[in-house]
Amino acid sequence: MTIHRAVVARVQPLTATMTRVTLHGEGLAGFRTTGVGDEYVRLFFPHGPDRGDLSLPLSTDKGWETPEGQPVAPMRTYTIRAVRPEAGEIDVDFVLHDHGVASTWVAGARPGDVIGVNDPTGLYRPPADLAWQVLIADQTGLPAVARLLENTPDEVATRVVVELPDPAAIQPLPDTKVTWVYGGNGHGASRLAELVSAAIPPGTDMTGGYVWVAGETNALRTVRRYLRKELGLPADRFKVVGYWIPDADSWNERYEALPDAVRAELVALWDDPVDELEDLTIRYEARLSDLGL
Ligand SMILES: Cc1cc2nc3c(=O)[nH]c(=O)nc-3n(C[C@H](O)[C@H](O)[C@H](O)COP(=O)(O)OP(=O)(O)OC[C@H]3O[C@@H](n4cnc5c(N)ncnc54)[C@H](O)[C@@H]3O)c2cc1C
Repeated sequence: MTIHRAVVARVQPLTATMTRVTLHGEGLAGFRTTGVGDEYVRLFFPHGPDRGDLSLPLSTDKGWETPEGQPVAPMRTYTIRAVRPEAGEIDVDFVLHDHGVASTWVAGARPGDVIGVNDPTGLYRPPADLAWQVLIADQTGLPAVARLLENTPDEVATRVVVELPDPAAIQPLPDTKVTWVYGGNGHGASRLAELVSAAIPPGTDMTGGYVWVAGETNALRTVRRYLRKELGLPADRFKVVGYWIPDADSWNERYEALPDAVRAELVALWDDPVDELEDLTIRYEARLSDLGL
């Protein structure tokens, strides 16, 4: 894995709650897109108020590490909305919300700011017989939904449902059937679970079908369980990706406060050699729910 040093080329407000940042620079020369519409990267932000002072970690076999004595660059995960290899540019669309390293950084972003970007990973993996798909997300998933639509062959029928804070957050999407729903996104309880069960009711014939869902992580626990356990979908017929956690600091503090044995038990859940990743995730999330997390 490489961690690239990128420079802000342009900043473009898209709506009241989303801003596009275009990154370029020599550091991005080795950036290789996977071409998958929901590909995401880790962004490494300046550790202090100087927007040009970036303490990039070193990449390692397991990911990355900050050399001893060097400040730690805060890291967040974002979708690559567009790649233009000929111009050496990538676009990232940021949701603006109340607080947070990334949201605060983008609110003040200007050309010349520096940021770290690692190599991308895509998660959307439709089955070979793909004939139709349903894409459901909250505002954080809108960049991925837009790029997935751009990449979808015309013969694949696509239905899209997006939960936004309000109508001012709507963005034009490639020609397709889109249902906009208002709420969630830190402005109220997320309705993603109900939206998924309405779009894919019990008894749906999944021949040729694929379901992709992204958004608030807690709401998606119910979605993953519904698709896998209630509908009994094979793991290759759906992908559910938690994008953000409300009140993440308090969640992390409560997690860290768990007794060592409980944390070890949670980690060990991932070692089960027989279960599919989706089933392991369901068991892990059920245990978190039992623990009030
Ligand atoms: C694979 C993947 C792809 C993603 N792609 C995108 C993307 O393209 N665009 C995008 O905007 N986000 C995307 N996200 C979500 C993004 O990583 C999180 O929203 C992240 O927490 C934002 O970081 P922050 O520093 O602004 O806030 P943090 O410091 O992480 O969080 C601070 C607090 O802000 C609140 N918060 C965090 N995110 C949101 C939000 N979106 N809406 C309302 N409240 C929030 C929470 O209460 C949290 O406790 C993606 C996440 C993943 C895993």
